[in-house]
Parts: sequence; C-alpha cells; structure tokens
Amino acid sequence: MHQFRDAAIADKILERLASMRLNLTLMHVCGTHQDTIVRYGLDALLRKSGIIIRQGPGCPVCVTTTREIEEAVALARRGKIVATYGDMLRVPGATGSLMDARSEGAKVKLVYSITDAVEIAKETDAEVVFVAIGFETTAPSTAVTLLKNPPKNLSILSYHRYLPPALEALLGMGELKIQGVIEPGHVSVIIGTKPYEKISEKFSLPQVVAGFEPLDVLMAVYMIATQARDSKSNVENEYGRAVRKEGNRKALEVLSEVFEPDNVRWRGFPTIPNSRMKLRNEFDSFDAEKKYSEDLKRIVNREFPEPAGCGCDRVLRGLMEPPECMLFGTRCTPQHPVGPCMVSMEGSCNIEYRYRRPV
Ligand code: SF4
Repeated sequence: MHQFRDAAIADKILERLASMRLNLTLMHVCGTHQDTIVRYGLDALLRKSGIIIRQGPGCPVCVTTTREIEEAVALARRGKIVATYGDMLRVPGATGSLMDARSEGAKVKLVYSITDAVEIAKETDAEVVFVAIGFETTAPSTAVTLLKNPPKNLSILSYHRYLPPALEALLGMGELKIQGVIEPGHVSVIIGTKPYEKISEKFSLPQVVAGFEPLDVLMAVYMIATQARDSKSNVENEYGRAVRKEGNRKALEVLSEVFEPDNVRWRGFPTIPNSRMKLRNEFDSFDAEKKYSEDLKRIVNREFPEPAGCGCDRVLRGLMEPPECMLFGTRCTPQHPVGPCMVSMEGSCNIEYRYRRPV
C-alpha cells in the first residue's frame, strides 16, 4: 500500500493541479473517502489549488431516516430480538435509539454481519429481525443469506439503498454547483462503471471511480480536473485494480433475484425514485415490514422531524461542513451524538471530530 501514500508523488500531483489554476467544487459519496481526505488533510491541500471537495449522501447509517430507526425501535420494544451493526444502535430516533430500547429491557444485539443474525436465530425460538443497511456493497450478503434458506424466525428490515439514483436526485436538485464526482470504489466493484454513464450524459459531469488511498483520491481529482479543463464529461476508472466496467455480474444477479427497486426517502432528501432495495414478494415471509405490519402501522406513513438543531440534512447534501453546525463539538460529540452524522464512523461530523476536533 505504501506506493499509494508516496508523499513525493502526491506533491507532484498537487503541483500539477496548482498549475492548472482551477476553481472547482467536487463531490464524493463515501465515508471511506471522507476519512482519507480528512485524515491526510487532502481537503486543505486541494483548497490551495482551487478545489473544494464536499461529502454527499455516502454514509449508509446517516441516510437512514428517523422513521426507519423508529421502526426498528418499535419492533425491539414489541419483543423481537433486533440485530444490527454497532453504529445503528446509537442513532437517535424520535422516541430514543435502539440502545435506549436495550436499556429499557428490549433485546437488541450488536452484530458484525447478517451471518451473526442467522446464528442468533438458530439458537432461539424467538423472532429475530436483522436491520439491513448499506448500499450495493453490503446488500449482496443479505441477498445470499435469503437465498440459502435461513431460519424461519429470521426476518429483514431492508433499508438497503441503490446509490446512483441518489446521486442523480442530488444533482437534479441543483442546490450545489458541482463540476465532478468521485465515485466510491467499493460500490463500483459491484455495480461497475456503467450506471454512472447516464449521469455524466444528463448533467455533463466528469466522474471518476476511485480507490481509498491518498494517491487514489488525488489522482481521481486530477483526472476530473483534466476533464473539466478539456470540457469533457466522461466516466473514468482510477481504481482499475478492483473495478471493472461491468461490475460483479454474480453479485448483481443475486441482488436482482432478491430485491426490486422502490421509492424511499433518504435523510435530508425527498423521496428518491427507485432508490430502495425492497424484498421481492417471493421473500414475504422474511420481510419484517410485512410480517409485522400490525406492529408498524402507526409508524410507516409518518414523517418525523430531524433532531432539533441538527444540520445532518444539509451536511448530507454537501451544503454544510460539520464545523458550521452550532452543535458541533459542543452539544454534539461522538459520546453524545445529536444526529447520525456524528454517530457513524463514516459520517462527516464524526470524521471531522475524530481528526480535527475543536480545542
Ligand atoms: Fe447534526 Fe451533530 Fe453534525 Fe450538527 S454536528 S450536523 S448536530 S450530527
């Protein structure tokens, strides 16, 4: 990995960017990219070359809505064993978090994968609900599990989401003038580069799929800058060591066998068409929304306000930097998060706090 962190090469790329006299705002949609950018101070270095980078809706925990958290909390309070990833436990819902439900006596389990949830279900007769979040990267493991005849007492709250529709929605909103997008390497390993092509065509926008090392990000910026200079709007692949144009065919087949697109709200966004991975009817008996529709009926069609004072909605649309939030580092910290962007290790506020906390 050292060759992707070579400071001398980084300096050369930055020198070239500086010589191009740029004035660009770019977006990426990935918590791991944000971690690399902030950890290595790439944002400050790029700013000197006239390039601003904003993080968009690329943190799966952060884009999960308060209503979805409330559904999981409601099922936990109604006696189901709810299993999900660590970050999800602490996201505040309208009536508390899953962690709060656990402290009230509900059975909420931290798991590292759906396989752990399957194991929990095998060891009990109680109903187990796995709260499934994540983009095309994590959804195949949920899909494969459902195809392997899992225990009958396991069901899924599917909050998996497709990334390209959100990107298209964000660009269509036009709130932020963006001259290029750095696309996430791990999602692109699954979907390939093709789904980005219509976005480049529609918005005349350069996009580059990038890996996660500092030089990957700098090279992606350089490739976008070169396209912008030459008035091009192509999809390019900086992460050729992992991403193919056609993606991972097997994973894509499994995804479409189990899920179908549905409309869903993302935190900070209105309803985004075809952006949710909904379980197909063949998997009704594993679909927690259908299995427990009675338990959820007071929640499913409700809108819940964002936590008071929290700017996650604007952070997720790239309109606000975490330090611009009045609560950042004061009332809102990783120990006492107000919004999900401070809870998740992939959230902009959490990353900013970890590397550049206010003193
Ligand atoms: Fe929300 Fe906290 Fe981030 Fe402010 S600092 S936007 S309150 S998560």
